[in-house]
Parts: sequence; C-alpha cells; structure tokens
Amino acid sequence: MFRIGIGHDTHRLARGRPLILGGVRIESERGAEGHSDADALSHAITDAILGALCEGDIGTHFPDHDPRWKDADSLQLLARVVWLAKQSGFKVVNVDANVSLEGPRLRPYIQEMREKLAHVLSVDGACVSVKAKTGEGLDAVGEGRAVVAQAIVLLGRA
Ligand SMILES: [Zn+2]
Repeated sequence: MFRIGIGHDTHRLARGRPLILGGVRIESERGAEGHSDADALSHAITDAILGALCEGDIGTHFPDHDPRWKDADSLQLLARVVWLAKQSGFKVVNVDANVSLEGPRLRPYIQEMREKLAHVLSVDGACVSVKAKTGEGLDAVGEGRAVVAQAIVLLGRA
C-alpha cells in the first residue's frame, strides 16, 4: 500500500540571513527569512510527508510562535516527521523536489543536499531527486526576492 503527498514552501530573501537548502549552507549575499532556519526545501518535503499521512501540515506540528522552533535545524523537523511516518507503519520510497532560486546557481550543492536528505529520510541517495530552477527574471523568484520549493513524496508500508 502506497501514500503520496505534495509540499510547497516559499521564503522571502533578505540580506544578513543564512541561506540553507536541504540542510546545506549556500554561499549567498541573501538568505531566507523565517522563524526556523527557513530551509524551504526541507519544509516542502516535511509537508509532503505530512500530506501523505493526512497529518495536517508543518505549521500545526511546528508552530512558528513556539520558541522551541526558533532557528531550528529543519532537518531535525524532517526527522521527526519521518519518525511519525514510521509510527504509522510507513517509510519513504522516493522524493522528487524542485527548488526555484534566481541565484546563486545551486548545481554545485545538489549532490550534498541529496545525500543529507537521503540520510534523514533513511533512503538511498538514488531515491532523492532535487532539481534547481530559476524564475527566468519573472515573479518574486525571478526578482531575487524569494526562494520556492516543491516536493512530492511516495510512502510505502514499512
Ligand atoms: Zn518554510
């Protein structure tokens, strides 16, 4: 038996903030604003797993007014949701994700993101896909004001 889930996340970019995607620190003048470490890719995957489980969303599990999650490592939030899936008898089969960022180019970081995410998701690196896109100079991504991530996750019986 399989379950599928979808996740989407947007963070505003600002100077003086770190840019972390898939647990990897990206060299960038601008980083993502948010209560946690604002890792949009990890958040989208977390939401996709919660969606597959019909367990609400990241905001209900890790409210942004809760001081426990201030500057939280989003890979740890993801790990908690993987644990929740396991409690429900499910494991991750594979993940596919898009990250939209106008710059810097993410290609040099993709492999490390896949490895870090695969480790937390308890799957082989070959089961985690991360694709880098730009906004082609259009919309908030294209104007360098936002980072957006989308993810789709398949869960199978553990
Ligand atoms: Zn987020």
